[in-house]
Formats: sequence, structure tokens, C-alpha cells
Amino acid sequence: MRGYQVIARRWRPKKFSEVVGQSHVVNTLVSAIKQGKIAHSYLFSGPRGVGKTSMARIFAKALNCVKGPTVEPCCECENCIEIEKGIFVDVIEMDAASNRGIDEIRELRESVKYAPTKGKYKVYIIDEVHMLTEQAFNALLKTLEEPPSHVIFIFATTEYRRIPQTILSRCIRFDFRPLAEDEAVKILANICEREGIKYDEEALRILAKAASGSLRDAEMYLEQAIAFSDGRIEKNLIREILGFVEEEVLSHFVQALSEGSTEKVLSIFKDKVVNAGYDIYGFVSCLLEFISDRLKRAAFTEDKEKAIKLYTFFKVFLDLSERIKRHPFPDMLFEAELIRLTALPPLEDIAYLIKQLDFKVSESLQSPKEDIGLLNTDIKDKFVNRVMERDRIVGSILNEVKIKIEDGKLILYPNGVGGIGWEKLKEKKDLINEVADSLGLTLIFGEETGNKRNSNSIDLREAVRENPVVNRIMSLFDSAVILDARRRREQ
Ligand SMILES: [Zn+2]
Repeated sequence: MRGYQVIARRWRPKKFSEVVGQSHVVNTLVSAIKQGKIAHSYLFSGPRGVGKTSMARIFAKALNCVKGPTVEPCCECENCIEIEKGIFVDVIEMDAASNRGIDEIRELRESVKYAPTKGKYKVYIIDEVHMLTEQAFNALLKTLEEPPSHVIFIFATTEYRRIPQTILSRCIRFDFRPLAEDEAVKILANICEREGIKYDEEALRILAKAASGSLRDAEMYLEQAIAFSDGRIEKNLIREILGFVEEEVLSHFVQALSEGSTEKVLSIFKDKVVNAGYDIYGFVSCLLEFISDRLKRAAFTEDKEKAIKLYTFFKVFLDLSERIKRHPFPDMLFEAELIRLTALPPLEDIAYLIKQLDFKVSESLQSPKEDIGLLNTDIKDKFVNRVMERDRIVGSILNEVKIKIEDGKLILYPNGVGGIGWEKLKEKKDLINEVADSLGLTLIFGEETGNKRNSNSIDLREAVRENPVVNRIMSLFDSAVILDARRRREQ
């Protein structure tokens, strides 16, 4: 079998006209060459696998082709061919990730002094340039300050912010962007055609989506697909390669969900997902795509009832996909959600009951509403999780404090954390505020509540239990679940 590198190299664009996407970079470089305004240092910045080094090589070729500088390097002369093979003496490629030190840069500084041997320019392509040490950057800076006229630097980086300002200010920066799905599909299709491989476009689209903007990843997936295919790239093959769950399984699963068959959904989940070795997050992603597809169809055929059901599923799994990523027991969380979806009444009914409950209780009791916010725990979880995503420490402090949600306000109480933790929260107020805001809540820092609260809450619990709406809810749910949720909140 041919190695991936070999094929990837063959598919690499060889001329500016062959580059798909990054047109802003191509256009600027082309017009610079046309006008003879070539700078001494360029910085190609952007995510991995979007064609930065390929572009650097094309640029090097444009400058050093025997017909160059030209916007259309011939790709036939000795210079062009050698540059393509990576053996041209005047195009020096260096990987700063493995040559980070001062010695390598000193060597480089020595070599820039000498005129090019075969080409018109000496082109230094330094990949992952942000990895250089501070000393190395300082040494490099001296060359950049007074570069010999025949020297051109092309730096590539995935993290330009880690490059010192002194270096940045001497470079012309180009921001490469992730490939759009359509662009990636176009490239993959082109490769298939050149390789004599048949394909259906949907298959390539799935590949492109999975590569999320990285051409290198897209090519790698395609490479695998070609190796497994018998000359034709089809949707199912791609799904298999990417670890996608079969459509039939998804279809059975959603069918069982709609029927409300707890037993069926649990057994499909266990046998076809967990035991089949699928990653749960991957499964949920496939499921979301599948449901979204069906939802569109139901909407177009005006099957409203079905559409509403699918929409509910979609919302539940979308929310779940976020939560399972960080959860230590994603399968348990998933199963619990399946039970809730199939065995418990629809969410709208619950929301209605909760609203009733909120109203009735606040009417009948002159006590704070915090202890009744049964489903507020969901919002709290979401809030804490979102903060956790952005700042682990602040998130874990929030796990300890008392949080109350009431009338669109999210109130934090210092109970449970020491002064330092509380101070930290106040320090990160902006971050917390942003997250609260994203949930439509206004953040408020409250005062410590007194010890009376515990006895109050016991009375309240009794009172709540006697409330008719609560009774109704408790008959719908396993009452242990409710008490469990309460205990958690009071810890
Ligand atoms: Zn040439």
C-alpha cells in the first residue's frame, strides 16, 4: 500500500492557481510578485492542516523558478522540481518544534550571509516558529532587522500570539482560515478524480465535516477510505471509517424513543452502542445529525406531531452532548436521560406543573422560594458546568457555594466556602456574569444566610409536600428522585 505521505504530497497544490480557499493570501502574494514588491519576512498564521507550508513552497517556487519571480512557476525546470522534492539548496525548511534553540538560529544567521547557489533568493521556511526559545528569537531578530537582500523568511505558526511583538512587527502576516466545507469537498473530489476513484458527493461531505476545516485531516480520512474501498467512496464506508453508528441502529433507536419504549431504547443503547465499543459522545453526534435530518423532513411534510417529538429529542440530546463530555459516567447519565424521555411525562407538562408549584407555594408560604426550585437544579448544573469549562477553579468553588435562582436572578451565597474562595468568585465576577447572562439570568452576590435556614427548610419541606401540586408531581416522579435532588442542593 502506498504511504499516506506519498499520496498527500502528490495531491498538494503546486501552483497558486491550484490552491482552493485562502484566496486572500493567494491574491496578495500574486500581486506582490507582479509588482516586484517582495518583502523579507512573511508570517503564515492559522490552524493546523490548512495549507500554510504548501503555500510557502509555492511561493518559494514562484521566486526561484528559472522563469521567476513569476506568478506561474513552470513546475518543470530543475529548480521547480527540486523545490517540490524538498531538495533545492536555496530553499531551507526548518521545523522550530524540534530545532528551538539558539545554536540552530546561530547557524541560520551564518548561512544567510551567503548568496544563493542556484536560485535568485534564499528562502527560509520555518514551521511552528512560535516554538523558538526567547534567546533564539532574539538571535533571529538581529537578522530580521537587517536582512541580506537575497533572503526571504516565511514563518508558519498555529499560535502567532506566542511570537514576540518585535518579530511580528517585522513580518507581513497572512491569516489562513479553516477550510469551508464546500472547499474541502471540492478538493477531495478533485483528488478522487485524479486518482480515478468514484465517489458520491455526500460521502465527501461527511468527510469534510468530520475534518472540521483541516485539509490535512480530510486528506487523511480520504486516504483511509481509498485504502478500504474497491474504487468507490460511499457514504456507508465513510461512516464506518469515522466510527459512525449505522443508520439502521439510529433509526431503530429513534423509533423506540418515539414509542416510549424504555426497555427497547435501553437495550439498543447497551447492545449496539456501549457493547459495540462506540464512544458515547460519537454516538450522540450521529444521533443529533440523524434527528436533525428527520426533523427537517417532518417539517417539510408538515407532520407537526412528529416534528415536535423530534424537536424535543434534539434539544435533549444537544444538551446531553455538552454534559457527557465532562461527566465521569457518561453512559449512566445517558441511560438516566433515556428513562426520563421514555418513562416520564413530556417536559412541557412538567414545566407547567412547576410553574403552578412555584405560584402556589409562594402564595401559601411566606418563605424564600429557593428550597422549592426543584428543576432549578438543572439550570444550576448547566451554569456551574459552563463556568467550569472556562475556569476549572471558579467552577469548583461554585460547586461549593449556595446558589439560588429566583425571578431571573442568580444569587450566590458564601455559605460553604471560605473567604478566599468567595474573594476569588468576586475577582472573576465578569466571567461568572457572562455565563449567567448566557442563561438569561442576572448575577447577584448575596450575604451569608443564617443558621435559621436549616430549620426553616425542614418546615418548608413538610409544607411543600402537602401542597397539592407537589403531590401531583410526586405521583408522576419517583419521589426519591426529588428528595435526592434536594439533598444534593443542600450539601
Ligand atoms: Zn520552474
